Amino acid sequence: MSARNSEVEPNGQDRKVSVIGTLLQIAVVTLAYWFAAQVSLRLALVHGQVTPIWPPTGIALVAILVFGRRVWPAVFLAALAVNLPIGPSPSGAAFIAAGNTLAPLTAAAFLKRAGFRIELDRLRDAAAIIVLGALVAMTISASVGTSVLVLSGTVPTDSFWSTWAVWWTGDAMGVLLVAPFLLSLLPNARSRAPTLRMAAELGGLLVGIGILTFVLFQNRLRLEYLVFPLIMLAAWRFRLRGAAPAALIASGVAIWAAVQGTGPFGTETLIQKMITLQVFNVCVALTSLVLAAVVEARERTEEMTRLYISANAASQTKSAFLNTAAHELRTPLTVLAGYLSLLSGGSVGSPPKAWETPLGILIAKTRELERIVDDLLTASRVEVIQPRIEREVLDLRKVVEGAVERVRPRADLLSAEVTVNLPRDPVPVEADPGKLGRVLDDLINNAMTYTIRPPQLRIGLSTRSRQAIVRVEDNGVGISEDERERVFDRLYRVSDSQVVVPGIGLGLYISRQLVESYGGSLLVESSTPGMGSVFALALPLVRITSATQLRQADAS
Ligand code: ADP
Repeated sequence: MSARNSEVEPNGQDRKVSVIGTLLQIAVVTLAYWFAAQVSLRLALVHGQVTPIWPPTGIALVAILVFGRRVWPAVFLAALAVNLPIGPSPSGAAFIAAGNTLAPLTAAAFLKRAGFRIELDRLRDAAAIIVLGALVAMTISASVGTSVLVLSGTVPTDSFWSTWAVWWTGDAMGVLLVAPFLLSLLPNARSRAPTLRMAAELGGLLVGIGILTFVLFQNRLRLEYLVFPLIMLAAWRFRLRGAAPAALIASGVAIWAAVQGTGPFGTETLIQKMITLQVFNVCVALTSLVLAAVVEARERTEEMTRLYISANAASQTKSAFLNTAAHELRTPLTVLAGYLSLLSGGSVGSPPKAWETPLGILIAKTRELERIVDDLLTASRVEVIQPRIEREVLDLRKVVEGAVERVRPRADLLSAEVTVNLPRDPVPVEADPGKLGRVLDDLINNAMTYTIRPPQLRIGLSTRSRQAIVRVEDNGVGISEDERERVFDRLYRVSDSQVVVPGIGLGLYISRQLVESYGGSLLVESSTPGMGSVFALALPLVRITSATQLRQADAS
């Protein structure tokens, strides 16, 4: 086995540790499920039967979401252990346990598909757990369980739907109230650990919610919804960490009151109790979950805006610095270039023969430096001082022809084949001819630079649906799929050992900024590594409406 493989594949020791880990998880989930089931059975409205909330489903769903599908045996085993003593028969209990396992497994699969995040910090997460996790997926356990009870004769056939509804609401409540609570206990990278003061505030609030709900459910005035402002406050102040326990406490107290038959439950029939209780529970769960998610999302947006503003400010400062530095470098560079050309031209006496090569190199390198400083200046200007949009209506054919003329000497030197295809009619666009010319210079020069073969270029101009498109096609080294957008990033260069040429990766960045300032676009239209690339520059066509505009287009 190679060293690399040994990193990826767990060795015997690791595998043993992971098997032990899984067994431990299964044991913990089984115990938690079973224990929660025993407590809930004690809170049944009719002893041992009608449970308004079934927390084990919430536990099972969170276990599958956190540990993965592999913990399903824990859910099945615990559900079987719970149902064997109360179920119709061992095989019936096994079917019920299978339904109880399938429901959270399906809920987890639905949530995964919906892109659910266990931080529950977006409105869509809250909606997903309410609709998919609770309401939809729990129809499985209710349907399987009720069918078993009816088929075994434990429940008469005409009670199918009422039994189904009780089963379904109990399981859905387990998901709605218990799963968010458990998820709120998980360590969350984004939310900071609460300070002592905050923990005390939250503790006080939760105790307040418990006491108020208790008091409200002790009288018959039907004022139970007065606890909502406190639940909303918990969600507002502490998001899920406040909302989930607040909802669980309020619902827990309400269930306890229903079991005791106090307050509004004193005179109600079983079905009325169920409705009063479940409507209250659903409202509590919805309010707390949705509000927590909305507050979290709003805070995140504010945080992103703050980060964006500060990153923007930092980038502006950097660009301003670059601008100043490039500006300061320009003067000494011009002087240097001037004296070098004096020296090589012989104006201050002819240079010794041995100086020719070093002087040639110095001149070439100084030109390179001038180009870099120029690029830096342009790039920083594009960012700091939004380019003054000087535009005139011009004939794009002329700009292309100008660029091809300028590149001709270099093309001859490299024995490059340059084919140009221009339409017969003028192509009017609005731009600065100098800047647009520079963009084309860059594209054509790149096409001749990034190649290992004698360059073959095809430059075409066409119009399509109110756009003029210049395509520069080459037979160069090409650009891989994942770098096609990145080459337009500031200071980005592809590292390719085949073509090592000087440059700082600003040309395409500047070109795109300029083209976009004229309402156009610049992109790599297609590219095949080793075969070549096609760069496409698109600009909006100008509609010629007056004689002046036409003249301008013709004159440029
Ligand atoms: P620079 O030429 O200074 O590196 P550019 O912004 O013009 O900066 O180009 C960025 C990178 O994009 C280049 O380093 C090169 O790797 C790649 N690139 C640009 N044009 C082509 C092309 N026609 N064919 C292949 N790669 C290209």
